[in-house]
Amino acid sequence: MGLYRDEGVVLRTQKLGEADRIVTLLTHRHGRIRAVAKGVRRITSRFGARLEPFSHVDVQLAEGRSLDVVTQAETLAPYAGSFVADYARYTSGTAMLETADRLTAEEKQPAVQQYLLLVGGLRTLAGGVRDPGLVLDAFLLRSLAVAGYAPSFDLCARCGLPGLHRFFAIAAGGAVCADCRPAGSASPAADTLALLGALLTGDWAAAERADLRHRREGSGLVAAYLQWHLERGLRSLPLVERA
Ligand SMILES: [Zn+2]
Repeated sequence: MGLYRDEGVVLRTQKLGEADRIVTLLTHRHGRIRAVAKGVRRITSRFGARLEPFSHVDVQLAEGRSLDVVTQAETLAPYAGSFVADYARYTSGTAMLETADRLTAEEKQPAVQQYLLLVGGLRTLAGGVRDPGLVLDAFLLRSLAVAGYAPSFDLCARCGLPGLHRFFAIAAGGAVCADCRPAGSASPAADTLALLGALLTGDWAAAERADLRHRREGSGLVAAYLQWHLERGLRSLPLVERA
């Protein structure tokens, strides 16, 4: 059996048998991995506490027939500690882990950009300087972009007309001009679309000037946009598996 080493973030864990856990990691070079961590639920486990959600770890794994096995784990950054006492950061962080899990559909397919976004997002969240809601929305927008679903905020998503448009249509791919807008388009404030554009491009100075009303409206649009793409992913996946 081959051994390999990588860095990764623990996305989630599930119980396996009496004392083991299956740990899902998003790694730097091997993409998303599910691996067995043996004996981690015992008090005497050598690395049980290092393999909790949010942990950024250096791991050694042994290739297995179905699941690989964690043989070593060293903590690089224990982000969980800075999130559990702060509800806003904890919920933002949890949403980041879930999104990274869902947007890396294939196991062991390298997802370097997604990994770097997640590590950067958790680090910023743990730093405590930026608003957790803005950190989350910036992460979600960039993750969607990396996954190939970049929303448009400055050009009409249909005809490419530049400008700050008044309408937003999820199915069309973002902001749309008055001529292109489909029925049922949202009509957010121009400042809200400018905020989302700033978060997507990493312009924190502009993003942090946005007031609470536009941050809230922006979060609603990001959540709806993400949900729409994840549901589409889920709907198409069972069809592929059965074909
Ligand atoms: Zn248009």
